[in-house]
Amino acid sequence: MTRRSSLALALSLVALGQPLAAQQPVDWAKLKEETTQVLADYIRVNTTNPPGNELDAAMFLKRICDREGIENQVLDTVAFRARHGANFYARLRGDGSKKAIALVHHMDVVPAAPAFWSVDPFAGTIKDGYLYGRGSIDMKDQGIAHLMAMIAIKRSGLPLTRDIVFIGNADEELNSSGGLEFVKSHADLLKDVEFLMTEGADNQVDASGKVAWYSVGVAEKRTFWQKLSVKGTPSHGSRPTKLNPVPKLVAALDRIAKWETPLHVTPGVDKYFRDISVTYAGDQRRWLSNVKVAVKNARAREWITSNVYWNSILRNSISLTALQGSNKTNVIPPEATAELDIRLLPDTDVPTFLAELKKVAGDTAVHFETLLQPKTPLESPIDTDLFRAIERAARERDPGVMVTTPMLTAATDRPTYRRLGIVTYGFDPFKVPPAESQRGMHGNDERISLENLGFGVRFLYDVLRYAQ
Ligand SMILES: [Zn+2]
Repeated sequence: MTRRSSLALALSLVALGQPLAAQQPVDWAKLKEETTQVLADYIRVNTTNPPGNELDAAMFLKRICDREGIENQVLDTVAFRARHGANFYARLRGDGSKKAIALVHHMDVVPAAPAFWSVDPFAGTIKDGYLYGRGSIDMKDQGIAHLMAMIAIKRSGLPLTRDIVFIGNADEELNSSGGLEFVKSHADLLKDVEFLMTEGADNQVDASGKVAWYSVGVAEKRTFWQKLSVKGTPSHGSRPTKLNPVPKLVAALDRIAKWETPLHVTPGVDKYFRDISVTYAGDQRRWLSNVKVAVKNARAREWITSNVYWNSILRNSISLTALQGSNKTNVIPPEATAELDIRLLPDTDVPTFLAELKKVAGDTAVHFETLLQPKTPLESPIDTDLFRAIERAARERDPGVMVTTPMLTAATDRPTYRRLGIVTYGFDPFKVPPAESQRGMHGNDERISLENLGFGVRFLYDVLRYAQ
């Protein structure tokens, strides 16, 4: 076939909704083996944050991309000199007829306490069908799945309409400075990027590895921390006085604690409840299938909000956490303070919410200080080529399986990229049972099964293929 006619054939296949075919078949068993070895080597590059040392990780990724003939750059070594840090960027070029897809991971990991591990957390030990090590599920595993899927695409000669951009960021675990620096200094490298995938979604898997549903994280809550303080006049506790700031603060906090913020259903959350409703029966099934209506019904509302996760994704939430008055029983302090961990829904107007909160506190003696400003709202659209590609690849593996959109109540680097208008998803190609992620993520004996590594890299390859 001439180049021209093969291009014409490829285009007509795309028009028919047929995935593009690779010119060389992929040896999946070999790729699984290689993915395991590369991840073991990556875990051995100790990027415990602090300090991070992500320059070592970036150089590791660079050596692999150089060997594979994939263009790449180690970036921001000057900005991150103090932490021996860097960001990493690589790009596999397509024909440019569609916009690019970026695969983003953070190269740093949280500290590990070797005394609590059964193996050295940085040795990349393979044992009983698992690869152990800090970062093996958060999130060097995803980084290497991104890298090896990209490499497999290049080696197999799969025609690409969209470039694949690979990014490794520094410092996600402490200050998110890697993502922020990348977006600030290298927006030009992202200007043709339409879609981005990174952490922020967990597939629902039982202990036997059976999938209840796959997740695409389209939304996350916005962290908005407040410090409340009341000033008073210090004096001796033996003589009660109205100038004691503690009772004033306590009264305001009591009003805030009793405040039931309105329930509000955002698009991704609406879809999530509708999707999972089929796994329930009777009234519960009916309620979840239309949560907007259900939250107006007292019985339904009580049942739904008794689930702490569901409650959090349906409203702006406030947790009273830090509290400080006097440090001596007999001393009335000059000041009393409290801190609120507030998590806002993506579409909440921040000044309006703050004005409401002050009204609820109900005392002008209470001073509000913002400790953490909310990031850019993250609520990505669902009706996209990439979402459909994930659904297709998921259903090929598990016929009829749900692909749903739970909201993350915690925070990731996604809003930083969303700010540029990029459709940003949380997507994890692995099937990690909850017991594994609860023990291992930021905990001890973090590990991933070798079977999962083979599964994930092939899943991601297919997602990228179907998104062309
Ligand atoms: Zn992470």
